[in-house]
Amino acid sequence: MNTRVLLAKRPEGEPKPDDFEIVQEPVPSPGDGELLVRAQHLSLDPYMRGRMSAAKSYAKPVEVGEVMVGQTVGEVVESKNPKFSPGEVVLSQGGWQTYSIATGDGVIKLDPKNAPLTYALGILGMPGQTAYCALLDIGKPKAGETVVVSAASGAVGSVAGQIAKIKGCRVVGVAGSAEKCRYVTEELGFDACIDRRTENLNDALKKHCPDGIDIYFDNTAGTILEAVLRRINLHARIPLVGLIEQYNATGDPVGPNLRPLLVNRALIEGFLFLDHLAHTKQFLADVGGWLREGKLRYREDVVDGLENAPRALIGMLRGENFGKLIVRVR
Ligand code: NDP
Repeated sequence: MNTRVLLAKRPEGEPKPDDFEIVQEPVPSPGDGELLVRAQHLSLDPYMRGRMSAAKSYAKPVEVGEVMVGQTVGEVVESKNPKFSPGEVVLSQGGWQTYSIATGDGVIKLDPKNAPLTYALGILGMPGQTAYCALLDIGKPKAGETVVVSAASGAVGSVAGQIAKIKGCRVVGVAGSAEKCRYVTEELGFDACIDRRTENLNDALKKHCPDGIDIYFDNTAGTILEAVLRRINLHARIPLVGLIEQYNATGDPVGPNLRPLLVNRALIEGFLFLDHLAHTKQFLADVGGWLREGKLRYREDVVDGLENAPRALIGMLRGENFGKLIVRVR
C-alpha cells in the first residue's frame, strides 16, 4: 500500500497534527513515459507552511485533500520511461507519500559515489543553492566585511555563513539555543553566534559587530531584521530569503510585512541625492528639455516674506503647501 499524508485542513497559526490526514491507498502504476518511485527520504522545508495556506504566493497552494508537496530522494521501482531504470536513485517532487509517479521531467539521477544521497535535499540541493546564490548574487560579500545570518544552524543559514567565511568575511550567526550557537561557532566556524531566545539582540549585535553590518542574510525578517537595521553600514546588502518569524503568525508581523517584497523579488534601495551629482548634466538636459517641450508640468506655492517662513514650514509638514514651497524674500 501507499502511505500518503494529505492536507486535511488549512492551519490557523501553528499547524496541528489534525491538519494532516494519513491514508493508505493502493500503489499507483506508471503509465507510458512515467516511473514509479519509492521514497527513501523526504525533505521538510519552511516553505511547506506557505503551501498549507490559501494565501496568494509564488506557488500554488496544496488543496485540502491533496498530498503534501515535498522533494524526495527515492528508488525507481518500475519505469516506463526509457531514460530511467529500476534501481536508480532519483531526486524528485515525490511529496509526502511512500510511492509517487513521476513523468521524468525535473527528475534528477543521483550517484551515491558523489555525496551522501540525502545531501541532494540540503547542502547540495535547493537550500544549499539558495544560500550560495542569495549570498553571492545579492549579498556580494567582500573580504573583511561583517555578515549576519539568521537561522544560522539551519539548512540555508549554515551554508550561507560558511561561504561568507570562505570569502573572508567576519560572520555572526543568530540561532535559537545555546547548543545551536555552540555548533555554529565551534563546528561551522562562524566568529560569533547570538542566542535569539536569551540574549538582547541589540546589545549582542553591538558587541559582535563593532564595525557595523555589511550584509544581513535574512531568513526570518521581523524582530531580528529590526535589530540588524539599526547597525547596517553604508551600502549594506540584505538578501531577503525567508520570513519564518511570520509563517505561523495570525496577526500583523513585526514592522512592515515584507512578504510582497520577497514574493515579487522587489528591490528597496536607499537613495541619497548627493551620490548622484555626476548625473547633473544629463538631468538638466533631459528635464530642461521636457519642460521646454511641455512634457512636464510644474507648480510652485509661493509664500511672501521671510517672516512667514516658519509658519510655511510648519504648514508643509501638515500638508498645507500645494506644489513646491518657496518663500519670496522681500
Ligand atoms: P532551517 O533549517 O533554518 O529551519 C528553520 C529555522 O528557522 C528553525 O530551526 C529556527 O532556527 C528558525 N526559526 C523558526 N521560527 C523562528 C522565529 N519565529 N524567529 C526566528 N527564527 C525562527 O530552515 P531552512 O534553512 O530550510 O530555511 C531557512 C529560511 O530560508 C526559511 O525562512 C525559508 O523559508 C527560507 N528559504 C527561502 C528560499 C527561497 O527561495 N527564498 C529557499 C529555501 C529556504 P533558530 O531557532 O535557530 O533561530
